[in-house]
Amino acid sequence: MKPVIALVGRPNVGKSTLFNRLTKTRDAIVADYAGLTRDRHYGNGAQGKHEYIVIDTGGFEPDALTGIYKEMAKQTRQAVAEADVVVFVVDARAGVSAQDHDIAKYLRKLGKPCLLVANKAEGMTQGIQLGEFFELGLGEVVPVSASHGQGIKALVDMALAPLHLPEDGEPEPEQDPGVIKLAVAGRPNVGKSTLINTWLGEERLVAFDMPGTTRDAISVPFERNGQRFELVDTAGLRRKGQVFEAIEKFSVVKTLQAIESASVVLLLIDATQSVTDQDAHIAGYILESGRAVVIAINKWDAVDEYQRELVKRAMETRMGFLKFATVHYISAQKRQGLGPVWDSIAQAHRSANCKMPTPMLTRLLLEAVQFQTPKKTGMYRPKMRYAHQGGMNPPIIVIHGNSLEHVTETYKRFLEGRFRKEFDLVGTPLRIQMKSAS
Ligand code: GDP
Ligand code: GDP
Repeated sequence: MKPVIALVGRPNVGKSTLFNRLTKTRDAIVADYAGLTRDRHYGNGAQGKHEYIVIDTGGFEPDALTGIYKEMAKQTRQAVAEADVVVFVVDARAGVSAQDHDIAKYLRKLGKPCLLVANKAEGMTQGIQLGEFFELGLGEVVPVSASHGQGIKALVDMALAPLHLPEDGEPEPEQDPGVIKLAVAGRPNVGKSTLINTWLGEERLVAFDMPGTTRDAISVPFERNGQRFELVDTAGLRRKGQVFEAIEKFSVVKTLQAIESASVVLLLIDATQSVTDQDAHIAGYILESGRAVVIAINKWDAVDEYQRELVKRAMETRMGFLKFATVHYISAQKRQGLGPVWDSIAQAHRSANCKMPTPMLTRLLLEAVQFQTPKKTGMYRPKMRYAHQGGMNPPIIVIHGNSLEHVTETYKRFLEGRFRKEFDLVGTPLRIQMKSAS
């Protein structure tokens, strides 16, 4: 599971700037999808070999008793509780403030790994000017400049060092390719626990205990029509004996981690509420993670024709970026429409793990180019030579040639469509990368 870093500090020290910097690489992937809204407080990031989740928090006053500051303090405490490591950001130019002392006191009591970071340190000489931050009693201070992108890699390395993450080259835990790891994602009340309990009550579904799983762990292995599944930890649910029940607190971090650890995500949406901002956020995380996805609109039994139309239209405008996913209309409660969901899950899993041999990819590429040549831009006409598969889950197709940086988005989508059709890829994102020789 990816480690979670929470950014904490008083307002204006540069937390959001740092957040953007830490999550930047991933942003680029999803920047140009219409309808994609993102919760700017949670993000995936990667620096070198490290991948992580970052939480940005508002300005923090640990002792705030009223109003918006009290609410912010509450949210910050939750973020800190969910984090593996806290990055405490201070302003190198402003120096230590009383508020910094309050936050430091709170963090020292917490007993969680904590890294003190002095932002806005561009052009400063560490030893001389940052000495005063030692007063905070949190050890060494790491100078960074979020806006100039300085010291970011060192920050990540130092923040994650106490967590003893597996070193590069250490084998990942064995994954059984025959098992589909399934996460049911969705905001509170969409019907996740109802659906899972309906499933587990089905005769065709055989749940079994796996050695090493505790009684209240959510992870449940089961088999259905000869296909093995593992239901991975789903945010907002608790296991009570044989049934699942919703818990009050919804955790974005748990949702992100569940998505990351799944091979297929079933995104549940509540038809009675149509598509909400929170649904769109979760969908955005799924897109960003590159996971295969199936969408089920639940409570279809409880909505009239008018609402059904509304939901379908909202799906197009707000979830257009997941249009590779199959959409089902179901009732978890009335057990309607559930069978086809399983077929889509299996199809999405197959698609995500599809093997695409180089000769076939290359032949398809050249046929596509013959059918429609990429446009010349200025002096350059992109020349595509061959293609190979660069990865699975999600499948990545790497195209080699010349002047490929001039290939338009429209043309890439045209290619994507051809590849999807030929390899029957449904329910998985497909990434196309261009590698130019010159
Ligand atoms: P937040 O309230 O802690 O989230 O702070 P912001 O990220 O909104 O930044 C507050 C101000 O500090 C903005 O005007 C930023 O442009 C500025 N800032 C952020 N990082 C740096 C930095 O590394 N150097 C300098 N000089 N200014 C910065
Ligand atoms: P969770 O928070 O996502 O686990 O949601 P729950 O499974 O607890 O369901 C929230 C509410 O929606 C409960 O009152 C359920 O009875 C109701 N519900 C769940 N599925 C359906 C459905 O298919 N149709 C209708 N009408 N109600 C449903």
